[in-house]
Amino acid sequence: MISRSMKETPLHAHILLIEDERDMREGLALNLRAEGFEVDTAADGEQGLEKLRDSTPDLLVLDLMLPKVDGHEVLARIREEHLRVPVIVLSARGGSTDKVACLEAGADDYVTKPFGLDELTARIRAVLRRVAASDAHEAGAVHHFPDLVVDFRRFTVARGGQEYQLSRFESEILRMLVDRRGTVVTRKDLLTEVWGYTHLPNTRTVDNHIARLRKKIEANPDRPQHVVTVHGIGYRFESEPLEEPA
Ligand code: CA
Repeated sequence: MISRSMKETPLHAHILLIEDERDMREGLALNLRAEGFEVDTAADGEQGLEKLRDSTPDLLVLDLMLPKVDGHEVLARIREEHLRVPVIVLSARGGSTDKVACLEAGADDYVTKPFGLDELTARIRAVLRRVAASDAHEAGAVHHFPDLVVDFRRFTVARGGQEYQLSRFESEILRMLVDRRGTVVTRKDLLTEVWGYTHLPNTRTVDNHIARLRKKIEANPDRPQHVVTVHGIGYRFESEPLEEPA
């Protein structure tokens, strides 16, 4: 079942992959499809731009060294033509100048070859989440619960006549829990999707942020009613909203 929250964090997102090396292109496409993404491919920048204009992918994975129109040129055209698509650049070069140039040219993230599929997938999900969050930000995302109002635009929660400011991480954690309310969100899900890393030193980072979050959203942080611990696995948001957010 694809819930509304799944659409906000599009796990079944449509990805366009522009990569000239056939083995790389086909291997990545195969693996990303196995991860649940819908994948379309192009073998050079020219064909890639045509597909970008014709379809509306949720994200572009763009190799830099491409025949005909290279990745830098593709980035430039995307900006000139106001094609709204988040971009993750793949590059064999690890030079920081190259990375800065791509980010300044509008790329959202940058992965240096060789990379693991886990790393790329995590970065894709992180970028999609950021885009979904900023879309929601534009549309307005205020959630009303019986004793709690969460405003993801302003990073605030209001409870018991008091307003609390959330940090960016607290806000992203809470958003993920609220989006998937009623289901367990594992610590690993939170690490991968909120922080965008597959490996952090330890999962205590998540627990520490949850503890700080609870002090703001729970009437009694020692007996949480909203964010409950699922022992050994992660957390679950339990409250039902009073009304659907706009
Ligand atoms: Ca290439």
